[in-house]
Amino acid sequence: MVADETTTSSATSPAALTVVEVLCRESWAAAPAGAGTPHTIDQITVHHSATRLDDNRDVVDHIRRYQRDHQQSRGWVDLAYHYVIDARGNVYEARSTDFVGDTSTNYDPTGHFLAMCDGNFEEQDVPEPQFDGLARLLAWGVHQYGLTVESISGHRDHAPTACPGQNLYEQVESGELARRVQAHLAVGPVERRLVCGAEAGRRIDAIQAGA
Ligand SMILES: [Zn+2]
Repeated sequence: MVADETTTSSATSPAALTVVEVLCRESWAAAPAGAGTPHTIDQITVHHSATRLDDNRDVVDHIRRYQRDHQQSRGWVDLAYHYVIDARGNVYEARSTDFVGDTSTNYDPTGHFLAMCDGNFEEQDVPEPQFDGLARLLAWGVHQYGLTVESISGHRDHAPTACPGQNLYEQVESGELARRVQAHLAVGPVERRLVCGAEAGRRIDAIQAGA
């Protein structure tokens, strides 16, 4: 009977849920997006900004600057990437995944889920919280779009570029990122929770204060 009780108890435990919290566009004061080109996500690529993020308090200014540069200088409809991850593992909503991203390199990003880690990983190491934030986001992406971890690659797998930087690319190439994503998927369902409004405002204030 003891064995039965143990079995029953174990079988009725709910699966753990991984929640990926995403700071919505309004939280970082995104400019409105132009009309995008629809596509269907079929793979994931990992990018870096190639701009050093030495102090995480600067990340929100960085994201606004990237969007301004992409829209005003390059003439793109929005920030090139779908999600941005900072050094603390906070995730920011950027371009809608309904629309194709953009690139100044020679490949077609149609079908790509573009995840960008802020930093220059040719020069900087990847902070563990940022690596884990990326892995959690990609676990959600794999789950949401019916992909496998084998569909995760680095930008330099598609075009001549240093992106996502040697120190981050090593984790893609070695399979370490795929293993971390798989580890999150193995725990149970992965859900995304968009954090908006006053709650997002408090989070952004804390990030900019160095919390
Ligand atoms: Zn890239």
